[in-house]
Amino acid sequence: MFALPQPLPPCHADPATPVFGPAPRRPARQVRIGGVAVGGDAPVVVQSMTNTDTADVASTARQVADLWRAGSELVRVTVNNPESAAAVPRIVERLAMQGIEVPIIGDFHYNGHQLLEREPACAQALAKYRINPGNVGFGRKKDLQFAQLIEFAIRYDKPVRIGVNWGSLDQALAAMLMDENAQRAEPWDAGRVLREALIRSAIDSAERAVELGLGRDRIVLSAKVSGVQELVAVYRDLARRCDFALHLGLTEAGIGSKGIVASSAALAVLLQEGIGDTIRISLTPEPGASRTQEVVVAQELLQTMGLRAFTPMVTACPGCGRTTSEFFQELAQVVQEHVRAKMPEWKISHPGAENMTLAVMGCVVNGPGESRHANIGISLPGTGEAPSAPVFIDGEKAVTLRGDNIAREFVGLVDDYVQRTYGRRADA
Ligand code: SF4
Repeated sequence: MFALPQPLPPCHADPATPVFGPAPRRPARQVRIGGVAVGGDAPVVVQSMTNTDTADVASTARQVADLWRAGSELVRVTVNNPESAAAVPRIVERLAMQGIEVPIIGDFHYNGHQLLEREPACAQALAKYRINPGNVGFGRKKDLQFAQLIEFAIRYDKPVRIGVNWGSLDQALAAMLMDENAQRAEPWDAGRVLREALIRSAIDSAERAVELGLGRDRIVLSAKVSGVQELVAVYRDLARRCDFALHLGLTEAGIGSKGIVASSAALAVLLQEGIGDTIRISLTPEPGASRTQEVVVAQELLQTMGLRAFTPMVTACPGCGRTTSEFFQELAQVVQEHVRAKMPEWKISHPGAENMTLAVMGCVVNGPGESRHANIGISLPGTGEAPSAPVFIDGEKAVTLRGDNIAREFVGLVDDYVQRTYGRRADA
């Protein structure tokens, strides 16, 4: 266990004051990444990363397009060899031909300075460079190669993310801080020294980039670790010690529910304290699962916290012995998938539809009450109840559905509600 940094965020400063909602966003310099603003008064931005071989232009462009359609506002690709660097402008061009202008971020390790020199079209096509100070180079070459990367960012007028990572921490800096720690009258524990090394690596590298001529409004910082409590401690400290925009993410979060829960737990604490300007959920996809899951989780995290709205959310009860049929689970899934699929169209034709709330409930116990709280809710019959399903619209009972077409009819009511309620744009 470790002590919380002081002072505590404003919304938690006085335990006697009732608190609702997140703390005000931490003031951060706004960074423009292509057409997307990160930090300042911009909403928290969702980003993702491909797992295709970047040199495979068709596959990478397809996955970027999928991530963008799912709602990713920035997409990062690995740029690890000359073939992938040469592919980047072709990927950007292919996406542009489909009308997709999502900013593409290049992830560089070890040889970024060489790749940017060799492929100017890549340097130009990327919207941001991600640099890891822990592995830009080794020994005496480290500072030189870091400077070269920053000079490319200045030359091509690109922002950078200085992203340090627990797994590739600058070993020379860690060793120096361990030595300094040994001289302390009361030495810190090793975990605290390593957290300090992570933070110092990020901030010192950013200050070095500023000395080299990169604007402070061209720098995003991240300091990722794989433990929830460590991540919260690192970012609280980082947020307190600089005003750079911050990219949040729990690195190597893991697969399935573990990755989702760990990422959500860590990021929710920080977002609630007003910390974080862009997020990525680093899920390990389950075999055969879509890469877009990380985008859906990031959006749902922000939406369930009330920070942003992306797609209508379905409230559904968990079910219990009062409803033994699986119909209400199936209907909840059908409705959630329907509104998610429709949202790209509604975003243009019916802006505001993303705020709609829906409820699919399993029986009369909480069904009518919860359904009244939603814009549209349906209370399905539990075991032994009459086979009828009242639908509530904006708190009033509107119609009762019966028979074999309840799912289709309810989805139709949802579509009608969107048409009636959210303003159709003149040009849509
Ligand atoms: S609404 Fe009914 S079916 Fe759903 S959890 Fe509550 S009691 Fe069970």
